[in-house]
Amino acid sequence: MICIPITARYRQHVLKEIILACLKAGCIELRMDLIEEASLSEMISAVRKTSASIPIIVTCRNQEEASLTDRFKNRLLMQKKSPGEKMRILEDAIQLGADYIDIELAEGSQRIKALRNICARRGGRTKIIISYHNLQKTPSLSSLKKIFHQMVDEKADVVKIVTFARSPDDNLKVLGLMPYAKKNAQKIIAFCLGDKGRISRVSAEFMGSMLSFAALDYGAESASGQITFDELKIVNEALYGVKKNIAYPVSSQTENQSQNYVLLGNPTHQSMSPLMHNAALTELGVAGRYNAFCVSDLNAALQGMRGMNIRGASVTIPFKVEAMEMLDDIDDDALKIGAINTIVNNNGRLFGYNTDWRGLLTTIKQAMTIRGKKFVIIGAGGTARAALFAVLKEGGHPIIVNRSKEKGEILAKIFGCPFYELRDIKKIKAHCLINTTPIGMYPNTDQSPVDADAIFGYEYVMDVIYNPLKTKILRDAERAGCRILSGLDMFVHQGAEQIILWTGREPNRLMMKAAVEKMLSQD
Ligand code: NAP
Repeated sequence: MICIPITARYRQHVLKEIILACLKAGCIELRMDLIEEASLSEMISAVRKTSASIPIIVTCRNQEEASLTDRFKNRLLMQKKSPGEKMRILEDAIQLGADYIDIELAEGSQRIKALRNICARRGGRTKIIISYHNLQKTPSLSSLKKIFHQMVDEKADVVKIVTFARSPDDNLKVLGLMPYAKKNAQKIIAFCLGDKGRISRVSAEFMGSMLSFAALDYGAESASGQITFDELKIVNEALYGVKKNIAYPVSSQTENQSQNYVLLGNPTHQSMSPLMHNAALTELGVAGRYNAFCVSDLNAALQGMRGMNIRGASVTIPFKVEAMEMLDDIDDDALKIGAINTIVNNNGRLFGYNTDWRGLLTTIKQAMTIRGKKFVIIGAGGTARAALFAVLKEGGHPIIVNRSKEKGEILAKIFGCPFYELRDIKKIKAHCLINTTPIGMYPNTDQSPVDADAIFGYEYVMDVIYNPLKTKILRDAERAGCRILSGLDMFVHQGAEQIILWTGREPNRLMMKAAVEKMLSQD
């Protein structure tokens, strides 16, 4: 199993690294000594959302224990953690259900025992890796065996021995620990640091090491001599025919999986998603295609998706709520919204997400600040829920306006905000008006959910409809002097978030928008 350490500094980068790493690796290490901004709970839930089965190691080293590349040395110095802080981080990791915590043997029996007791109180879910790092040299094999036994005496679930290779022979000493650990029925991770230690990194797993570490990309190496995941994979395939012999819990099966994607809805003929997604996939160099399927039996369609190993799906009207019952897991945000629009097929397990709210949020945030502002949201369907969630999450104040009183009131209760009937919309004053109903959509392009004189006074008016590009409500809004926000931007951003979930890569959003714009302006 290959473990990718997460080494980014800032929250946004950390979360992005986590998604990318989960798509590739069999295990994730959160380097709490290098990560600055993101909270442990947020990171652990980000890993779990991306892959429920991937093991998480939480590690917090100090300078003496970390063989860092120059890039990270200063960062570690700047945010040096006291022994108390390190303990608190590891305790939190246990409480949050991390699979492994990593503590240095040098931290002493008392601290190791304290952590072991917390693990036991939490049912033993979290296992303890006890580490020994020698950043100067590789001691003799007999010395390493003594250290090994000290760790066994401390009841290590996994022993980790990492030394600096001054000569190629040092690799042999460390690799020699592997059969020894096997004889003692002890799980072990062992390899050498430095350029001369690389050979141990590519051999360790095949000699019996529980895992080997590889960087997500160049520049993200967490230790000297570490190679990238892609390099290690190529070496493994060349040397060991890795696809047969080694367990990559996520990546190998992902590899066997097609890179094809589908749209599930009814009807789907009007959708621009195939055009937009295929443009994005082609530009990213992904071999697969995205096709629309008009579905009458959603359950059968999902079974087909599993059977054919389709990597991901968009879900549209009328299945956004119904699909939730049929999936293996649902992202927390989607649960709160009560609808999904995206499925990720992770080796036969289907995970549901909602990217509509992100698409809407990005569109609004590019134009205005949400915090403290009032938003009138017309509609009480799935898109209205996504809009409510997005506005509330950013500290805005939504007001629901809907044709049917009953549906509007239910939603108002769930999201804790005021409700007005559509006919009373002129009684409200707010900064931004968002139409989430289908009124005004092609071919009914002369329709609007509100009279033109109801629009005066809004700073911004947004329509989630993108066909036509400028709906009647947006045309009225421009005449009333309001700034307008397009449904196309929301459509592009929600689609881009889907591509990220499926491929782990950021698509070219401008190009996606241009592809749809071109098609719509031809009509
Ligand atoms: P939905 O769940 O069916 O909800 C539609 C809402 O519109 C309902 O609350 C309904 O009110 C209201 N409505 C429908 N017809 C009406 C009418 N003639 N007069 C007054 N109210 C009416 O639909 P949805 O999934 O939220 O989708 C809504 C729209 O958003 C669709 O056009 C969809 O294409 C668009 N959308 C765009 C994007 C994007 O990326 N740009 C993403 C998602 C959705 P009642 O409660 O009274 O029935």
